[in-house]
Amino acid sequence: MNLVDSLQEAAIKHREKVAYYFMDEATTFEALNVSVNKFASGLADTGIRKGDHVALLLGNSPHFIISLYGIMRIGAIAVPINPTYTPSEIAYILKDGDVKAVIALDQMVPYIDKLREAVPKIEHYIICETGAQLNIELEAFSEILHSGDIDFRPVPVSREDTAVVLYTSGTTGKPKGAMLTHENLYSNARDIRDYLKMDNEDTVITTLPMFHVFSLTVALNAPLISGSTMIIVPKFSPKEIFRVAKKYKATIFAGVPTMYNFLYQYPDSNPDDFSSMRLCISGGASMPVALLKNFEEKFNVVISEGYGLSEASPVTCFNPLDRPRKPGSIGTSIINVENKVVDEFGNELPAGEVGELAVRGPNVMKGYYNLPDETAAAIRNGWLYTGDLAKMDEDGYFYIVDRKKDLIIVGGYNVYPREVEEILYEHPDVLEAAVIGVPDTEQGEAVKAFIVPRDEKAAKLEPHQYLAERLAPYKLPKSIEILEELPKNSTGKIMKRELKKRVLQ
Ligand code: AMP
Repeated sequence: MNLVDSLQEAAIKHREKVAYYFMDEATTFEALNVSVNKFASGLADTGIRKGDHVALLLGNSPHFIISLYGIMRIGAIAVPINPTYTPSEIAYILKDGDVKAVIALDQMVPYIDKLREAVPKIEHYIICETGAQLNIELEAFSEILHSGDIDFRPVPVSREDTAVVLYTSGTTGKPKGAMLTHENLYSNARDIRDYLKMDNEDTVITTLPMFHVFSLTVALNAPLISGSTMIIVPKFSPKEIFRVAKKYKATIFAGVPTMYNFLYQYPDSNPDDFSSMRLCISGGASMPVALLKNFEEKFNVVISEGYGLSEASPVTCFNPLDRPRKPGSIGTSIINVENKVVDEFGNELPAGEVGELAVRGPNVMKGYYNLPDETAAAIRNGWLYTGDLAKMDEDGYFYIVDRKKDLIIVGGYNVYPREVEEILYEHPDVLEAAVIGVPDTEQGEAVKAFIVPRDEKAAKLEPHQYLAERLAPYKLPKSIEILEELPKNSTGKIMKRELKKRVLQ
């Protein structure tokens, strides 16, 4: 089985069922499958072949889904890229990823001359029209779709064939392309579907960006193969999330912690806005326990936290639904995936000890595209080394302590930023917090906290005393800076790299 076959199967089983709503318009599974077939056929007619790389510069939209499944259906390889990147960031990936064709939103048209110049190898620019005039040299998505053949037969693929190359900055350096195979993507979507018991009764809000692996597997592929209905929300806003949750009686919401914070803070929300929700999924970054508890209490829902990374397609752990859930934990290993905590020599550590999290399973990538040395460093003896520090408890629940590279060493003592952040999030005047290590002449490194106060009244926030009562002296921030907002990427993750740059400037 792979995602392409699964969509065909869903189209037979759930023909008339709504696969997704986009801008309040419904599309059935059958109609989606027809579009995918036609687009695949039209794409093949333009000369795209099995193994060719096709970049997607698209937001959350039917275009994304049809392109992704159409590309996979001809055995070509999709390279999703964040469309808000600058032309030079995009050009880097297009070049590094040996991309032959680009499917882009028409808002990208002004960039295309620059991209043509930077990456002359690209043969096709296929533009999704939403109104702009198309230049004659660009091909229109709709023409490719309409010229295609409904009865197009999928090009056979094997489980080891790459389906998607996902660029991730990983722990260091330039973005690297994680090669995810058909088996990687299908197995993770299937295992998440089974672990979370997602089925055709579910309605899932898909607002996380589809070009990011969390959305791709949890909020797009898993719902599609389980016959659930997606509500595609191109741009996250609490107002829109509450509107669609109510209108469509959504049962599953997937978000990163900052989204939960925005939803929680939204002044016009009402406790029964999420009354149809059976499950809220959090991942991508650690969920502060105080926020989890406040949110659950306000909306009377369950938040289940999971963990993953691009290189693992992405999910490795989730809080189970049929056993106790542990706030602050990323849960237990999902079906078919093994997790362990290891020391610097790769030896497994006993429960309670902190080490690097390593993962093994059908979801682990084939490797980084064209980077054998980086691949060998990341995957050793069949285990993917995640670069995250974690511990496991006696019941097999894992806890992310922090990213290995974010660990702060103050005069020889380890300080995990997350521990300080958790305490700050418990402070009633703190809206958001991030903690980093900065160079310090006395101690080597010092702790620095950035805080966004809840409102103007809280702007003079002085949490030194509050922190001193709760943390050992070496963990206390040497400086605290108040900001109006924290830098975040398009997934909503707080960008500590930006905060570090700000300090070092
Ligand atoms: P990406 O490859 O962009 O999905 O980023 C993966 C990284 O996000 C992981 O290596 C972790 O550092 C972080 N991450 C994902 N989920 C969690 C979580 N639940 N708690 C803490 N960190 C997380």
